[in-house]
Amino acid sequence: MYLEQRLNVLNKVYGLYNDVAKNLDVACKKYCAACCTPNVTMTTLEGYLIANHMTSNGQANLFRNIQSKISRNRFKPQITTNRLADLCMKGDDPPEEEKKHSNKSCPVLKDNLCPIYEVRPFGCRCFISKHDCSKAGYAKVDPFVMTVNTLFLQFVEHIDSMGFSGNFADVLLLMASNENHGNYKMNTLNHPGPDFVPNLKIKVLMVPPEHRIKVKPVIDALLNL
Ligand code: SF4
Ligand code: SF4
Repeated sequence: MYLEQRLNVLNKVYGLYNDVAKNLDVACKKYCAACCTPNVTMTTLEGYLIANHMTSNGQANLFRNIQSKISRNRFKPQITTNRLADLCMKGDDPPEEEKKHSNKSCPVLKDNLCPIYEVRPFGCRCFISKHDCSKAGYAKVDPFVMTVNTLFLQFVEHIDSMGFSGNFADVLLLMASNENHGNYKMNTLNHPGPDFVPNLKIKVLMVPPEHRIKVKPVIDALLNL
């Protein structure tokens, strides 16, 4: 698939998730940003979209903010969702994820608002809670919503199966380089290093038996994209 087609499908996946999320009972609202931490992960396709948005909307300063505020304790994924699904299918053990998680704020958050809200990655979109996390100290997520989120994560990775996943800051700093940005655009980006994991196509969907019937319309809608 050409880059423009992949970006088009990614936007449709985001739109579909908005439609699904509209019907969920969530406490999320504007200026609620306790979930905006430096631990968000995303794909290189999502990073490419955000980097283009920042550059064309006069927000190139955000690259500097990310560079200066990057958290040493940010979460860096060791495995992607589709790789995990593949290992589970084979009965193999996944690698241990890093225990590191930063409790600081996301490096682009300003006045409790996201400056790139319309192009934020799926990892931010799917962080929703039934109660206010800032009061409770933790999110409350329905198990069915977790199943839906996992499915969407699998499709978001699938669309960028020639790319990589990594921490939000690492992917954006990767895309801040004209060379990497250009190589990604031409499908010639080599493995960028130990902070990134290669994406995979979907081999099997991770759906628990109790949600198979209920989630089918969502799977059909995703496949239609
Ligand atoms: S996930 Fe929690 S902190 Fe984030 S917007 Fe929703 S209620 Fe607020
Ligand atoms: S990118 Fe935006 S929505 Fe995501 S964590 Fe950062 S400020 Fe929050």
